[in-house]
Amino acid sequence: MSNMSARAAAIAAIAARKSERASVNFVEETPETVFGSNTFSLALMKETLKPETYKSIEQTILEGSKLPEGMADEVAEAMKNWAVSRGATHFAHVFYPLTGATAEKHDSFYDPGKDGRTTISKFKGKTLIQGEPDASSFPSGGIRATHTARGYTAWDVTSPAYIVENANGTTLCIPTSFVSWTGEALDTKTPLLKSMQALDKQARRILKIFGHKDIARVTATAGPEQEYFLVDKMFYYARPDLLSAGRSLFGAAAPKGQEFEDHYFGIIPERVMAFMYEVDRELFKLGIPAKTRHNEVAPGQFEIAPLFESANLASDHQQMVMTVLKKTADNHGLVCLLHEKPFAGINGSGKHVNWSLGSPTQGNLLDPGDTPHENAQFLVFAGAVIRAVDKFASLLRATIASAGNDHRLGANEAPPAIISIYLGDQLADVFEQIKAGGATTSKQRGTLQIGVDTLPELPKDAGDRNRTSPFAFTGNRFEFRAVGSNMSIAGPLTAMNTILADSLDYVAGKLEGAADLNKAIQAVLKEIMDKHGRVIFNGNGYSEEWHAEAAERGLANLKTAADALPALIAPEVIEVFEKYGVLSETELKSRYVILCEQYEKHVNVEAKLVAEIAQTKIFPLAASYAASLAEGVAKMKAAGVATSTATLEKVAALVSQLESDIAMLQSVHGSAHEVGDWTFKVLPAMAKVRATVDELEGLLPDDIWPLPTYQEMLFIK
Ligand code: ADP
Ligand code: MG
Repeated sequence: MSNMSARAAAIAAIAARKSERASVNFVEETPETVFGSNTFSLALMKETLKPETYKSIEQTILEGSKLPEGMADEVAEAMKNWAVSRGATHFAHVFYPLTGATAEKHDSFYDPGKDGRTTISKFKGKTLIQGEPDASSFPSGGIRATHTARGYTAWDVTSPAYIVENANGTTLCIPTSFVSWTGEALDTKTPLLKSMQALDKQARRILKIFGHKDIARVTATAGPEQEYFLVDKMFYYARPDLLSAGRSLFGAAAPKGQEFEDHYFGIIPERVMAFMYEVDRELFKLGIPAKTRHNEVAPGQFEIAPLFESANLASDHQQMVMTVLKKTADNHGLVCLLHEKPFAGINGSGKHVNWSLGSPTQGNLLDPGDTPHENAQFLVFAGAVIRAVDKFASLLRATIASAGNDHRLGANEAPPAIISIYLGDQLADVFEQIKAGGATTSKQRGTLQIGVDTLPELPKDAGDRNRTSPFAFTGNRFEFRAVGSNMSIAGPLTAMNTILADSLDYVAGKLEGAADLNKAIQAVLKEIMDKHGRVIFNGNGYSEEWHAEAAERGLANLKTAADALPALIAPEVIEVFEKYGVLSETELKSRYVILCEQYEKHVNVEAKLVAEIAQTKIFPLAASYAASLAEGVAKMKAAGVATSTATLEKVAALVSQLESDIAMLQSVHGSAHEVGDWTFKVLPAMAKVRATVDELEGLLPDDIWPLPTYQEMLFIK
């Protein structure tokens, strides 16, 4: 064992792995009893709070009204009692700093009593409502200097507190907003909440125009589909690149990739299935409505999607999904990779954010019904989305820009960097009619005859799906498909809510007080189509022709984060965020700085890894292999045997090539200053080193190759 390579040892250990012991039993612990059991839910509050307190909390959650002062003490006490009864010793304000991650600061419930023995301290309303983590280590993008460290967390009543379990104890977690001492948002939640408030206000204006009297709060809804990879932990630890960068920086393509398309929706492997049951159980406990699970396109790639919820809750839950996936994978000897492109040459991972808006009184406002051409209210909302997406396409592109997502967008598996909308046949047709003067028909859904008597006739949707569009209408919602798998969905949601609020505001302005409402609607929708219809594209977003056509239509094609990020601070973007009170100019500028820094930090780590792995692992191996080949050739010659020097020459050439590639990388790395340098100089230099190493992988003896191969990482489980 001792002189076995880490790679060989990993394979041996995986092969010897015993099948899973059951860790989940949905018969003994039914989903009904499990669901929400670790949350301080409305049901629990109803049981434990005074009726008037409960009523206020419910109002705040459902109607967005302010929580009356003085109620927090009672809620805090009930929350603490529940948590302590569940073994909690600590509570934590959980917040979402601009790194995209989740942060938490734990405080114990316990204070020493006067008698010198530990007693439970009171958990006061004040402590529930407000926390003060030392915020100096979180990026503020210049909002605060490091010596002005004050940051506050503020309880978000609308997202239930929950308990996180560990083998050794439990912690009460309280979702919060995170702001600086000067009041600027330092997180992703605060602007999301503000954008939802803005959207509610404008959406209600439209509903009023349509004569609704009883209008409940309109909420943005979100249902994020999460794609991820699973690799065996043993391989992960033998790959410094996966460990530190989350993606493989080297690796020749495996002989078999995803070309058979046999993984997509395939039978889920036993080990992964055991993991998925446990993931679902853990999510159920947290009140997260996990719904679908399946194999994805690439080998080793999977997907999970919960049922949609209010955007704020969905965003918090999405962060928890990522945490649970990682934690649970570990229990199964696996590592969950959330990077957008962990493996070159096969599909990357996205997070499709399904998004709509609706209210308990009016339902889903993006539901077209069977005859959309007659559904003027729906057309107004859909038209507003078209205007918003066209007007702020570059902003949307900027909200999904990251070092990781750059490797995915625009490849022939993910939506292109050009933001366009897919409407589907039915809706595209209705909007074309509007443009031509007025809509009078809707293409009808038919039935699908399969042609086997014993099989049922199926109702057929009015339009097909389009998987190549970054922003697709999918029947009763839009799906922003270009979001990266590792990102917080709060940024894209904040942008979508804000720009839709802006468009609804614009449309409401045209419709309010109109003498003939129908005429006014037709006029404003026609105007939207004339001005913004260019953003609608129902064809193949992966095709070359689309790139050319998009350019002709004047649509932006911001290929990299370096091209896209500046859109965050474009004058019209600052204006719209300020107008609706979502983000100030200072906040936007700080976000821009932070995203640039994040980008640079990521590529910086990768560049160091590439140089280090190439220099310390691959070069010595390749050089000594070349030497041993040379020795062999010399011996053969000495023995008078004819021999070929082809392999020796190839390897020797690659060894010196590698030396110069590394030197080149180090030189451009040393002089990189701004995002563009990292994108256009450092990344290509890294790719050059990789190409040489990957070629060597195909020439060096397999038993000395130090890095687990693509074949091993993707197929051995
Ligand atoms: P797909 O077929 O696109 O893979 P999935 O079933 O995996 O679809 O995911 C679709 C997601 O869209 C789910 O999270 C679902 O709850 C969500 N969704 C459905 N209706 C809405 C809505 N009105 N608003 C937001 N999301 C929605
Ligand atoms: Mg899906």
